[in-house]
Amino acid sequence: MLANQLNISDELISKCIHCGLCLPTCPTYNLTYNEQSSPRGRIQMMKNVFENTSTISEQFVDEMNFCLDCQACQTACPAGVKYGSLVEEARNLISLNKKEKTFYKISKSIFLNKIIASTYKLKLFSKLLYYFQKLFSNKYFYSTIFKIFENLNLSKLNLLPKINFRPFDETIDEYLPSYGKARFDVIFPYGCIMNVAFSEINSDTVEVLRKAGCNVLIPKNQTCCGSLHFHNGEKEGARELAIQNIKQFNNFKFDYIIQNSAGCGAMMKHYNELFSGDSEYFEIVNLFSKKVKDFSEFLYEINYEPPTINNNQTVTYHDACHLIHSQLITNEPRYIISKTNKNTYIELNEASWCCGSAGIYNVTHTEDSLKILDRKMDNIEKTYADIVIASNPGCLLQIQYGIKKRNLNIKAMHLATYLNQIQ
Ligand code: SF4
Ligand code: SF4
Repeated sequence: MLANQLNISDELISKCIHCGLCLPTCPTYNLTYNEQSSPRGRIQMMKNVFENTSTISEQFVDEMNFCLDCQACQTACPAGVKYGSLVEEARNLISLNKKEKTFYKISKSIFLNKIIASTYKLKLFSKLLYYFQKLFSNKYFYSTIFKIFENLNLSKLNLLPKINFRPFDETIDEYLPSYGKARFDVIFPYGCIMNVAFSEINSDTVEVLRKAGCNVLIPKNQTCCGSLHFHNGEKEGARELAIQNIKQFNNFKFDYIIQNSAGCGAMMKHYNELFSGDSEYFEIVNLFSKKVKDFSEFLYEINYEPPTINNNQTVTYHDACHLIHSQLITNEPRYIISKTNKNTYIELNEASWCCGSAGIYNVTHTEDSLKILDRKMDNIEKTYADIVIASNPGCLLQIQYGIKKRNLNIKAMHLATYLNQIQ
């Protein structure tokens, strides 16, 4: 009965040969040294549930949600196990069978289904948050509040993004021409959280694209890409959001869709997983996904010549999980950063180890998320870099929180911001 609700083939679930090569790459195994919290252990639990030899127990639910869905195990696996697809199906199954824990269910139902899924409600909620944050905008007062939240074990509140007064889409035209000779027509998806809390990064992305020879189209009425829904078991919600974006974007003639958020790019490139067996949408979705490029991937492929800088600032780079493991993009951003200044780049030890942000994981599993962040921050500190670059808003927030907590003199920024500030 359970297997009927799944989009998982026997072949996919049986690929694991139990070699254990994925274990050293798994942050949750590393926290617990518990087989059930490892990729191999979780796959065995999924197999049992998918084959109906065990039920959706409380332990099963806990382990599927304890997993960060960072997909480091997928990269390490010699047998080609598609762990990301498996855990996402497992979470979908938990949701379909209404087995989630109350706190998780409430967080999802309010945050994902009520707020993120509606651009109007997200903007309204953001406006309230903006005025709340403004109350604490005095620097001294803000640091006091930060310390109070830390002491009260309310780090969740310090992980909230700083909201912009006006969302990005309300500050920008729908069409922005290339600064020089136009080579490409690209669509820029401004995202959900990115739209209300990371306006500067979106503006920097658009500016760099225009300088790189792109006419930039920014369709109005676009929405969240659906990744937060998909990674948290809300497959139907993710499909609805995907359809809305595909319809909006396909009103235009364009060469590429350029994503500046690793999680959203990975989702849009894998929209086909939401539509397998769907005769109406499958082909449309495949054509759409082929046009999706990450910002660094696109710049690298068009032989973009970044501006050069001549100072002593050093830069390091953190791999966002959904860029390195899901989209297999590693060299491109490093190449571009290195070209800006030959002496500037320092490789980060364990650059591909998750920072603990993982969508809403730092809200649902704050304590574990912060333990994982500690390891990342230890490595960042050891570089003595002036700037750490990450290409995902969640990673930036998480690392910025780590910087503030440790009182470090280092800036965390997006690749687009780094490039735009030196042009
Ligand atoms: S996705 Fe990440 S946290 Fe989950 S099992 Fe794989 S390595 Fe571990
Ligand atoms: S998931 Fe891959 S690496 Fe991990 S135990 Fe199975 S086959 Fe080995």
